[in-house]
Amino acid sequence: MADLRFARIGKRFGGIRALDGVDGHVDDGEILGLVGPNGSGKSTLINVLSGHYEADEGTITYGDANLTDLPPHRIIETGLARTYQIPRPFSTMTALENVSVPFMFGANPLPPPVARESAMEWLSFTGLEGLANEPIDSLNLHQLKYLELARALAARPKLLFLDEVLSGLNPTEITASIEMVRRIHASGITLVIVEHLVRVVTELASRIMVLDRGTVIADGDPKVVMQDDAVVTAYLGKRSRRAEG
Ligand code: ADP
Ligand code: MG
Repeated sequence: MADLRFARIGKRFGGIRALDGVDGHVDDGEILGLVGPNGSGKSTLINVLSGHYEADEGTITYGDANLTDLPPHRIIETGLARTYQIPRPFSTMTALENVSVPFMFGANPLPPPVARESAMEWLSFTGLEGLANEPIDSLNLHQLKYLELARALAARPKLLFLDEVLSGLNPTEITASIEMVRRIHASGITLVIVEHLVRVVTELASRIMVLDRGTVIADGDPKVVMQDDAVVTAYLGKRSRRAEG
């Protein structure tokens, strides 16, 4: 049983305080929804917790492990994985190679046939098996996001951060994807889910944490949180002023 805990996380980019004293936790077994307006710091928090960015301040622990100063590859070894909001495939490889190759290197490399078999399993899980041998540039954005998901799942994580994996889908695809996320969770993976669509988050999450301008403005039961005045003002107020993409 491992809970992820983080305290006083600060991250600046030049003059921008992307995260400003963020405290929080991800309990073993839950689905945490992480929401907030564009630019509120959701991706930055995932980047810091996964070690992609180093925090300027704060501490991060996962069970007994202190993750605060660990590089990303060591954090992955503790059981954390994440997708990138903007997919980062190896552009010269096929879909199958993108998912299998990372697992042929590193501290515990898999033999290539085992890595490919595991990769194929996760490509099937995400519905991409028909594209396994296609070059990356033949995949659309939605497929690239699912490729990110397949790659993250192939790492066999205990805790997975999903950064807008379902964005850009039509309503039928969203319904299917919600079921897929439920299956991932049912397989024993703790989830942190960032999604633009409030419906997706409230349907899936057992708890919601809301960021606004780099600070936590609410954290708790989804129904209570999404009706909180500060959340409605910050989240919905700003959203209504921008075109939904
Ligand atoms: P969200 O994911 O909630 O939309 P982000 O975490 O991407 O928000 O961004 C939070 C703030 O940090 C924004 O002002 C954004 O422009 C800034 N930011 C994020 N990443 C970088 C970066 N690599 N360089 C400079 N500014 C960044
Ligand atoms: Mg983001």
